Parts: sequence; structure tokens; C-alpha cells
Amino acid sequence: MLKGFTKVLNSWYSGLFLIIIMALTLAASYFMKRRIGKQEQSFFEANVEGNRRFSYFFDFIYRYELGKDIRLYRMKDMIIKEIDKDTIRSERISRGMLRHYHKAAVAGNVIGIFFEGACYLYVGLKAIYKLISIGSVLKYVSALRELRNGLTGILEVYVAIEIQSRYLAYFSDFLNIKNKKHEGVLPVELKEDNDYVIEFKDVSFHYPNDEKMVLSHVNMTITSGCKLALVGMNGAGKTTLIKLLCRLYDPTEGEILLNGINIKEYDYKEYMKLFSIVFQDFQLLSFSIAENVAASLDYDEDRVHECLEKAGFSEWLGKMPDGIRTNIYQLQEEGIEISGGEAQKLAIARALYKDSAIVVLDEPTSALDPVSEYDIYRRFDDLVRGKTAIYISHRMSSCRFCDNIVVFDNGRMIQTGSHEELLKDTDNLYHKLWSAQAQYYS
Ligand code: ADP
Repeated sequence: MLKGFTKVLNSWYSGLFLIIIMALTLAASYFMKRRIGKQEQSFFEANVEGNRRFSYFFDFIYRYELGKDIRLYRMKDMIIKEIDKDTIRSERISRGMLRHYHKAAVAGNVIGIFFEGACYLYVGLKAIYKLISIGSVLKYVSALRELRNGLTGILEVYVAIEIQSRYLAYFSDFLNIKNKKHEGVLPVELKEDNDYVIEFKDVSFHYPNDEKMVLSHVNMTITSGCKLALVGMNGAGKTTLIKLLCRLYDPTEGEILLNGINIKEYDYKEYMKLFSIVFQDFQLLSFSIAENVAASLDYDEDRVHECLEKAGFSEWLGKMPDGIRTNIYQLQEEGIEISGGEAQKLAIARALYKDSAIVVLDEPTSALDPVSEYDIYRRFDDLVRGKTAIYISHRMSSCRFCDNIVVFDNGRMIQTGSHEELLKDTDNLYHKLWSAQAQYYS
């Protein structure tokens, strides 16, 4: 009997028994880790919306410019309540996840102990039956443990790759989203004299998320070097027209031509070089003044100074501790806060630095004081000399600087002409807009 047991212990199939135990424990670890990975993924998926909302509200803490409104209108409590809602929800999901982690950790230890017990049993019996020396017991058990740890490590890497590839799939889905914008390849002819003619041919447009037409049957030609003003009530479609011009959207109907060719056919990057645009909601970054103006880390100092001067910023620049190297906004070391008007001047300087053939200014002086505003208008000719200028403004007096004025109402062009021509008819929208503003200045 003793001899028979010794024989069994010494046989290859007793070793096989240990290998089977090891394989079983490895398989158990593998499935457990996969399960945890899946649960982790569903945890993150359930948290996407909450995380987005949380980041939105949390961002308020850093937004210096929001501080005054939040304090003034006592919005602190409503923001904290929203953050609390998301925190409580996220905490509930996290607790569920932690329970899973906890169970997995316990199960992992139990599997490890079970395997080690089987090893001690097997190697111990061999020592008891004098098949190996007592001194070798620890050596063999350690070797088996190391072997299993090594194999578990390989499995863990495999599971991690499997799990991470699921996250990667989201990213690759994102990268594979088809570009719906027509990508033309035509180069834009470089013209020293900036002779670019733009034509809107029966252009109508609605935003992708809304069926309501924002622009209807717009027909107009913008000749090279002209100064064009777009006027109309809020929501008339003026900014949308500019968005179509710079291909942020394509027209729903009709076409826009540059020198007779549909703008869709041009290489987008080359086409965009034609435009310097200051939108109403322009953004500056927490970089130095010069880097903001040049929109680059490399800049030509003289040109930066020249553009700042033209935009009416130079007097203020003299007060800056580091001149054009002064950082703006507090994200940067010693960054300074600038007023809305100063920011607007910087945005104008940035558009001038780009030195494009067509300058578009959407409400460019809305934040400027009357003196700065007058200064910009006075030098408007100089600012856009040799370029085509498209100008959106609610300050009707500024339209007098333009050769042609187009009046928009509800997405339609209802009048065109010079300031004097449009004022002749006392019953039109332009006259109403002009008179409404003029009465405050008379
Ligand atoms: P304006 O510049 O003349 O004040 P806009 O061109 O900004 O007018 O807006 C025209 C209309 O388009 C408005 O009714 C506005 O609500 C709508 N609109 C603007 N942007 C969007 C958008 N991204 N999605 C849907 N509708 C928009």
C-alpha cells in the first residue's frame, strides 16, 4: 500500500494533477479579471453623462470670469446642488464597483491559497515519503508559486489588452466618423492684388438640427476691395451667412462661388487662408499678447506691434509689465486679466496679423468705449486697405463707412444700397433701424 502510494506520487500523472490544478486556478483568475474588466467598463459607461455634467460644473471653479456673476446672482447653491446630484449618483455606482473589486480580491486570494495548499500537499507528501529531501520543500513550492505568478502576470496582460481594446474601439469609431464635408482639392490662386470675387447664388440654409430656414434665396456679389455692411435685427441670419462663407456649414440649397468656382471645390486649408474673421464670440487663450496676436508661438515682433497699434491697443500695451510678452489670463504665470474691450482689440489685431485678402468683422466694436470705437472707424479705411471687408454691426452710423449695405430680415435680403440710398425711403427697415438709434444721439 505504502509502496503503491509512493509509486503514484512519483508517477508523471501526479505531476499532471498539479498542472491541472494550476490550469484551473489560472482559468478562474482569467474569467474573474475579464468579468471585473467588463463591470468596470459598464461603470464608466453609466458615468459618461454624469462625468460630463460634473466636468461642466466643476470647470466653473477655475473660470475667473464667471466669479462675479455667480456671486452677484447667488448662483452658488444651485451649482452645488447640481454637483451634489451627480456626486451622489456617481458615488452609488462607485460603491457597487468597489463591492465587485472587493469580491474579486477575496476570490483571488482564495484561489492563490488553494493553489499553494495543493503545492504544499504534493511537495510535502513527496518529502514525507522521502522522494525529495525536507530541505527542498520550500524550494519546490516557491518555484511552483513563481511559475504560477508568472503565468498569471501573462494572463493579466492579455486581459488588459482585451479590455483596453474595447475602450480603443470607441476612439476608432470616433476617428471613423465620415467627414460629410465635401473636400475639394483645387488650389486657390494667389493674387497679389487680392482680386477675389465672391458670389452667393440662390443660397438657402437651415442648421442640421433645425428644419427652419435661417437664410432664404440669398443672391449677392461681393466684389474685390469693396466694403460691405450686413445689417438687420438679431437672428436675421447675418452671422450664419459668414459661417457659410468660411465653410463651417455648406448651403442647403444654392452655391457660393469664389472667382466663378464653387468654394467646395477648393482645398479647404488654402481657401481659409483668404479670411481673417473676428466673430462676436471670439476666444483668446492664456498665452502672451504676442502669441495671441500671431496665433503662434513664433512671431514677428514688429508686425505684432504694428497690428496692435492699428487695433488701438498700443497705449494700453505701454502699461504692460512685459510688453507684448505679458501673459493674459490667470492660467499662465503672472497672467493678467484684460477687459472685454481690450480683448476685442486683441482679436482685431489677430485678424490683422493674419493679413488675409478678406476681412470679416462681426460686431467688432461692441465692447469698445466710444473713443476707441470712433478711433477704429476713423482708421477703418487704413485697417482694411487693399482688402475686401465684410462688416456686421448694429451701430448704424458705422455703416456709412461702407460702399454697400445689405439689409437682412428673417433670413432674406430685403434691401441693398449705400447709406444715402437706403435712407431715401423712409418706410424701410434700414430707415427704422437708423432712426431708432439716431434719436438717442440727436
Ligand atoms: P444674426 O447674426 O443676424 O443675429 P444668426 O445668423 O446668428 O443671426 O442666427 C440666425 C438664426 O439661426 C437664429 O434664429 C439663431 O437662433 C439660429 N441659429 C444660430 N446658430 C444656430 C445653431 N448652431 N443651430 C441652430 N440654430 C442656430
